[in-house]
Amino acid sequence: MSEHAQRHIDPAEEAAFLDAIDRWIEREVRPVVMHHDHGDIWPAALVEQMKEMGLFGATISQEYGGLGLPATTYAKIITRISSYWMAITGIVNSHLIMSAAVERFGTEAQKRKWLPLFASGEVRGGLALTEPDAGTDLQGIRTTAVRDGDDYVINGTKTWITNGIQGSCFALLVKTDPKAEPRYKGISLFIAPKGEGFKVGKKFDKLGYKAIDSAELVFEDYRIPAENLIGGVEGEGFFQATGGLELGRINVAARGVGLAEGALRLATEYAQVRKTMGKPIAQHQAIQLKLGEMVTRAEAARLLVANAAQAYDRGERCDMEAGMAKFFASEAAVRNSEEGMRIFGGYSYSKEYEIERFYRDALLMCIGEGTNEMQRMIIAKQWIKRNPV
Ligand SMILES: Cc1cc2nc3c(=O)[nH]c(=O)nc-3n(C[C@H](O)[C@H](O)[C@H](O)COP(=O)(O)OP(=O)(O)OC[C@H]3O[C@@H](n4cnc5c(N)ncnc54)[C@H](O)[C@@H]3O)c2cc1C
Repeated sequence: MSEHAQRHIDPAEEAAFLDAIDRWIEREVRPVVMHHDHGDIWPAALVEQMKEMGLFGATISQEYGGLGLPATTYAKIITRISSYWMAITGIVNSHLIMSAAVERFGTEAQKRKWLPLFASGEVRGGLALTEPDAGTDLQGIRTTAVRDGDDYVINGTKTWITNGIQGSCFALLVKTDPKAEPRYKGISLFIAPKGEGFKVGKKFDKLGYKAIDSAELVFEDYRIPAENLIGGVEGEGFFQATGGLELGRINVAARGVGLAEGALRLATEYAQVRKTMGKPIAQHQAIQLKLGEMVTRAEAARLLVANAAQAYDRGERCDMEAGMAKFFASEAAVRNSEEGMRIFGGYSYSKEYEIERFYRDALLMCIGEGTNEMQRMIIAKQWIKRNPV
């Protein structure tokens, strides 16, 4: 059993919540997506609305001010939003992974202090793990935290951090013992609010995932109280950070399903109105072959995500299930958006149509929260472990 609690929701309550999300997407999100995506403009109004809906506390327990939603419901919300605009889900997801690390591994005092602030969205942030020379190989991080009385002094650089500019607090992975062997034993995770010595470096100009800030964070003699060390014990950060990734992977997988479904929806509509040789292209077999594969892929991805989320909600270890969902759904997003581009023909290349955004956004799902190369190895290792000879 994992450390996270089992979660349930009344089906009628879930349906009402999802209905509210659908109405919000229709009324508020769809009309402004292109404006924010094309201009790479931070969606301030949408963030305020997500705050009001409680999304920044979606998976935080009710006793700490969150909605306490099960991962299954959370995944459905993320899929729905992503089927219209994936990028905004990143604002919530990174924040909730930080929150999950505090809720699962923090001391009671840390939970009482930080989780209500995270749940309301008053303090928002994300996960600061990656460094210029350490992405997949997280144990190779170089940012250090040196104990000095009741504080730690932190120096180093993090890169590609989602919400780096707009967020104000991050779960920050550092080395408290750079000489430790094995290396993970020298790694710790801190709750790091912005303050003196915590600077924002460059903002990345990206292919997709627009309007959401991805930035470098620079720490120069950044002083942080020892009480911000998650769990209060040094050397546990590696497992605290990667433990939270199960939920993160379910989320990325849910985003992949959304992208796959969204590309399918756009392609299905277009194929029925675009005519060649005297009939809608949907009536040509070559296009039907594509649509047949796209709908199957989207549905298979959705089922894998539901399966992983259900295991998570039962409190089970689900790294294999979350890995399979993340791997398959992100590849489904890439394949469906590419096939969507082909169905749109030349118009796919025009920014007047939405399909190109799906194509630009999809590939990130194969990279974030552990690359798909790593996912396949994680899946295989778990599979072998579960099937010993
Ligand atoms: C838009 C965006 C947002 C991001 N947001 C965040 C964030 O909020 N917080 C954060 O901490 N990070 C974030 N990241 C960073 C992301 O997690 C890393 O890019 C990712 O983990 C891969 O690390 P890397 O880029 O250093 O690639 P590398 O680790 O250098 O990998 C390069 C290639 O080698 C492969 N590879 C590496 N090691 C192995 C191995 N042992 N076996 C087989 N193949 C291997 C990889 O799969 C990949 O194909 C973000 C990245 C992007 C692009």
